[in-house]
Amino acid sequence: MNIDTYKQILIKYWGYTSFKPLQEEIIRSVVEGKDTLALMPTGGGKSLTFQVPVMATDGICLVITPLIALMKDQVNRLNKLEIKSIAIHSGLSAEELDNALENAIFGDYKFLYVSPERISTRLFLGKVSRLNLKLVAIDEAHCISQWGYDFRPSYLKIAQLRDHISDKVPFLAVTASATPMVIDDIMTRLRFREKNVLSTSFDRKNISYLVRMVEDKGTYLIQTLLKAHGSGIVYVRSRKRCKDVAELLAANGISADYYHAGLSDEVRDSKQASWTTGETRVIVATNAFGMGIDKAEVRFVIHWELPDSIENYFQESGRAGRDNKPAFAVLLYSPTDKSRLIDTIRKKFPPVEKIKDIYESLCNFLQIPLGSGKDTVYDFNIQEFVSKYRLPVIETFNGMQFLQREGYVEFTEEINNPSRVHFIVSRDDLYKFQVANESFDSFVKLLLRSYTGMFSEFVAINEEALSRKSALSRDTIYQFLVRLSSMNIIKYIPGKKTAMVIFTEERLMRKALLITTENYLHVKERYEERLEKMIAYADTEAHCRSVFLLNYFGEEADRCGICDVCRKRNELDLSNYEFEVITRSIKDNLTMSSIDAEQLVKMIDHPEDKTIKVIRWLLDHNKISQDKDHKLIWISD
Ligand code: ADP
Ligand code: MG
Repeated sequence: MNIDTYKQILIKYWGYTSFKPLQEEIIRSVVEGKDTLALMPTGGGKSLTFQVPVMATDGICLVITPLIALMKDQVNRLNKLEIKSIAIHSGLSAEELDNALENAIFGDYKFLYVSPERISTRLFLGKVSRLNLKLVAIDEAHCISQWGYDFRPSYLKIAQLRDHISDKVPFLAVTASATPMVIDDIMTRLRFREKNVLSTSFDRKNISYLVRMVEDKGTYLIQTLLKAHGSGIVYVRSRKRCKDVAELLAANGISADYYHAGLSDEVRDSKQASWTTGETRVIVATNAFGMGIDKAEVRFVIHWELPDSIENYFQESGRAGRDNKPAFAVLLYSPTDKSRLIDTIRKKFPPVEKIKDIYESLCNFLQIPLGSGKDTVYDFNIQEFVSKYRLPVIETFNGMQFLQREGYVEFTEEINNPSRVHFIVSRDDLYKFQVANESFDSFVKLLLRSYTGMFSEFVAINEEALSRKSALSRDTIYQFLVRLSSMNIIKYIPGKKTAMVIFTEERLMRKALLITTENYLHVKERYEERLEKMIAYADTEAHCRSVFLLNYFGEEADRCGICDVCRKRNELDLSNYEFEVITRSIKDNLTMSSIDAEQLVKMIDHPEDKTIKVIRWLLDHNKISQDKDHKLIWISD
């Protein structure tokens, strides 16, 4: 293959002049037809690794991605570049789904985005073989692994695709986050023909990682931000705190706003835009802030609380310094944080009997009789659900995750589906209808003037916009649409904002409902392990933070020299090697018995001044302490 072909595509469609690190290698691997697992940090440019190669073919790329909002965002971006793309998710009716697939088969579409729970449906598997498929891309591929922090059972069904498509079509799995165990698991679960991993280093050399033990986080934040320069993100764990912290900053003269998933799409978009352009300096956000952030000059990412995994921490803090200029990733840590984090375990893992209660309430809420409901999609409003059955919202949400994990149901996030219209009569028949029904004439003309393509497919419309354009009330517009629909002139799907539940099994009796050890206890154990790692990161005073993070992802590295741990060490003015040798020797001596400081210095076979420095450092960092006789003892690793 000639890489120039791909460079030209990069320039022609995206206007970029060169590839980012590893993009070229990944494209090469894919073009050679190899199954490929690509690991690149957030913002590394993963999307282009599947988008570019397909543009050089006459075929289509199937992209599997977990979040519907993310999918829509990508499809919009591609369509703006005049690359025909289409999305299939649970928000579509069966008819639209069918239509979309037919379009993908016969239209010259380049990208078909699919949410994972749609893949195993009969409709999809029945048609997928007719696509001129060149590549299957799996975004956020770590979701396939039960070892990972974001396991989604529907991802497990992706491998089934192999039975329905040509075995020449390679799989490209991409992720920003995978520990060595997860990497292996991804390739196994996707039935890779051969193992093949390409990865860039996760080392973010320009980020200075800091952990700050502070009791009064508000004051710390204000003081820091008044001194610091540039724009950044403060992550917090609750929606309420978002608003509180933003207000606190604003009250102290710092330009700040807040962002969380409870705000409407329009509000979120406008807040994100103000932050991106620099109008708002600091955005205080929950982890809902992340998708589609495309801002390189982020000077700091501050975590108000400990996240619940290193994966999350790395991903979120990694939004700092994409421009490769110095940036800070700060974790605020207070003495009570640890116990609060441990308390989240209780909320995350409601008792099994509670989970079964939730299942039964859910079935009753959706009015599903025993033995039915399989493969049915239901609109689902969790607020209504919890208030009707007086359930605690967080525990209920978490309990439902186990029902999903066990394969009984699937949940989608809340999505905004616009209204859609499709003319089901020909232009000629429509004309005859207009002549015969004069009262509809001007409305039909309004529709035809406002949108195109409605004769061949469903087209998104906006009742509000039509109302503004025509001076008809919104309700009148709605009535017209409903009547045209009942007269079989159009198909009309009213828009709505909703989450959905898909029953993957029929409703079962309570005693038939299984919550297995594998899907509950083991999950809990792994969750606890991740928490412990996160706490260890915050607690460590001996490991370079950057090395700690990289080791977690299976990468070796030298200490960064710019994290808080390294900075303290730098003050010692000892080489890394000297420090380690002396520390080891001190440890060897002290683990056998407690020793008087003066005596210890004599026992260590290194210059006295250096040994004293190390002992002082170890004392300062609670590695050693003094017992009641003022002898030194070793306390931790
Ligand atoms: P990821 O999925 O790895 O987090 P994205 O695919 O969203 O990253 O890409 C991040 C940003 O980098 C996007 O704005 C994208 O357009 C840009 N980008 C990707 N490849 C290149 C390139 N070769 N040159 C310049 N910008 C690029
Ligand atoms: Mg991405």
